[in-house]
Amino acid sequence: MARQNILVIEDEGDILELVTLNLTREGWRVIGATTGEEGLEAAREEAPDLVVLDLMLPGIDGLEVCKALRADARTRAVPIVILTAKGEESDVVQGLEFGADDYVTKPFSPKVLVARIRSVMRRKAQASEAGEGVLKARDLVVHPGRHEVLVRGEPVELTAGEFRLLQFLARRPGWVFTRRQIVQAVRGDGYPATERAVDVQIFGLRRKLGEAEEYIETVRGVGYRFRE
Ligand code: CA
Repeated sequence: MARQNILVIEDEGDILELVTLNLTREGWRVIGATTGEEGLEAAREEAPDLVVLDLMLPGIDGLEVCKALRADARTRAVPIVILTAKGEESDVVQGLEFGADDYVTKPFSPKVLVARIRSVMRRKAQASEAGEGVLKARDLVVHPGRHEVLVRGEPVELTAGEFRLLQFLARRPGWVFTRRQIVQAVRGDGYPATERAVDVQIFGLRRKLGEAEEYIETVRGVGYRFRE
């Protein structure tokens, strides 16, 4: 399994540290952000697998961050677990209405947070297995749950790394990603770990996609994007 990335947006240093320590111990890679602005930027750049979001933040608050994440095609599908202080029940309700998946009330035990994160991730994985999150371009279908790619209805055999790469790009059509961003998003056991390896994977992917290779576009001097 590739290592999953969790973005933690929390302005209180000691809580951020505690959460980071506990999530890292569980095998996740943690990206920390201390303001809403910083968090949104990190969510767009790093494409995390889940966001832990404190509601009380300086500048744009957690609810605004939640709304912005859901409004952006790049981050629309990312699961969100909100952190809230006691007595902020109305904020919790609003957060869930804005598309958060679950919440944990402060002060919380790290074990409870880890359990909630696991449960949200499991739910998302099941939803994906049920066919949600299927990516469709004109004659190309990427089915994350089944790990299946179809070009004009014909299955295409991809390596796990190629699949992850295609899925990563296809999830955000039109967005250009640098090789470094791609490496960060898709690396893990058996996945490319260098920028050069990304080029090799892209080469292999294009060859296997045949006519559908046109969806993978090279942006000179920058990186790659999935054509809309
Ligand atoms: Ca706070």
